[in-house]
Amino acid sequence: MKPFQYLRPKTVAEAISMAADYPEAQYMAGGTNLVELMKRGIASPSKLIDINHLPLKKIEHRYDRLRIGALALNSDVAKHKSVLSRQPLLAQALLAGASGQLRNMATVGGNLLQRTRCSYFYDLALPCNKRKPGSGCGAEAGINRTHAIFFAGNGFGGNEKSSCIAVHPSDMCVALTALDTEVVINGTGGERRVLLKDFHRLSTLQPELDTNLQPGELVTAIEVTDNAFAQHSHYLKIRDRASYAFALVSVAAALQMDGGRIWDARMALGGVAHKPWRYWAIDLMLRGQAPSEKLFREVAEHEMQSAKATAQNAFKIKLTSNAIVAALKAATGIS
Ligand SMILES: Cc1cc2nc3c(=O)[nH]c(=O)nc-3n(C[C@H](O)[C@H](O)[C@H](O)COP(=O)(O)OP(=O)(O)OC[C@H]3O[C@@H](n4cnc5c(N)ncnc54)[C@H](O)[C@@H]3O)c2cc1C
Repeated sequence: MKPFQYLRPKTVAEAISMAADYPEAQYMAGGTNLVELMKRGIASPSKLIDINHLPLKKIEHRYDRLRIGALALNSDVAKHKSVLSRQPLLAQALLAGASGQLRNMATVGGNLLQRTRCSYFYDLALPCNKRKPGSGCGAEAGINRTHAIFFAGNGFGGNEKSSCIAVHPSDMCVALTALDTEVVINGTGGERRVLLKDFHRLSTLQPELDTNLQPGELVTAIEVTDNAFAQHSHYLKIRDRASYAFALVSVAAALQMDGGRIWDARMALGGVAHKPWRYWAIDLMLRGQAPSEKLFREVAEHEMQSAKATAQNAFKIKLTSNAIVAALKAATGIS
């Protein structure tokens, strides 16, 4: 491991000033992803800025929104009463991720910024445009059973030198994308806010960049505006093992219903693209309709028309379609 400077700021301003002008500096929260990347030589920060002493753990509901500090633990968020009563989809997604021990260490900020689990990214002997830009994508003609089926444009990630077919691994981010969450970011220029849908990137040009966070910027919180989805939301995760496994495919469905009809619908998919994949047309397709399996099948098949399989993951297209139907049935309570 490359030697690095270890720093422990006490305030957000101090943390940001420590990272300023050091593009190779990295913040460390729970360390459950970053430490592994450092041990393997995939991440080599010159400065490791341990942010665990910053006052960013608070979870609170104020005015019309739920604000969750970037250092709130995944386990604390999943059991918080405001999360359970107002945004149960988020709690379900968190509890579907990792294991109890990991959730006790992992933070909201770290979960947003965790890196892909593509095995080509983790193996230094193999080509990977995300780890080493321009080296090629080993997965494209290699082992790609778990890889993406949705891309920017209508093909794989881009050209050979910039393509990446890895998927984003987070469960939490899928639910938060469906809920139109805002990410609060602080940097030397002050505070800015970005919708989660614009926070992560597709892999078209620079697959080494997972997000639009600028060097030195710190995520300080996320905010979810109140909605009417609590009664009719569902997170469905399909994986190779019943627990302690990343999603092959996941679906976050959030619906508002009244009088037996659907009046608002949001959906995001996980395990299918370089970022959580928002299904934009769903609201238009479901609004004003009575729930039925036939309708949900049409909705699922509509989105899957733009999916594109690799040599080994054609099964994911049918699987995702079935998962959309199952999640919508669970959210609406139809059998
Ligand atoms: C065996 C295993 C199984 C797992 N299974 C799942 C799963 O099924 N589903 C799932 O969603 N996740 C899963 N995870 C991933 C886990 O959720 C992440 O490792 C965790 O969320 C990362 O949080 P952390 O606080 O430990 O981040 P760290 O490891 O500390 O940091 C991760 C990255 O985020 C950056 N960072 C952290 N906080 C901030 C901040 N506030 N501002 C800016 N940058 C920041 C760091 O610089 C680093 O680049 C699994 C992990 C392991 C090891």
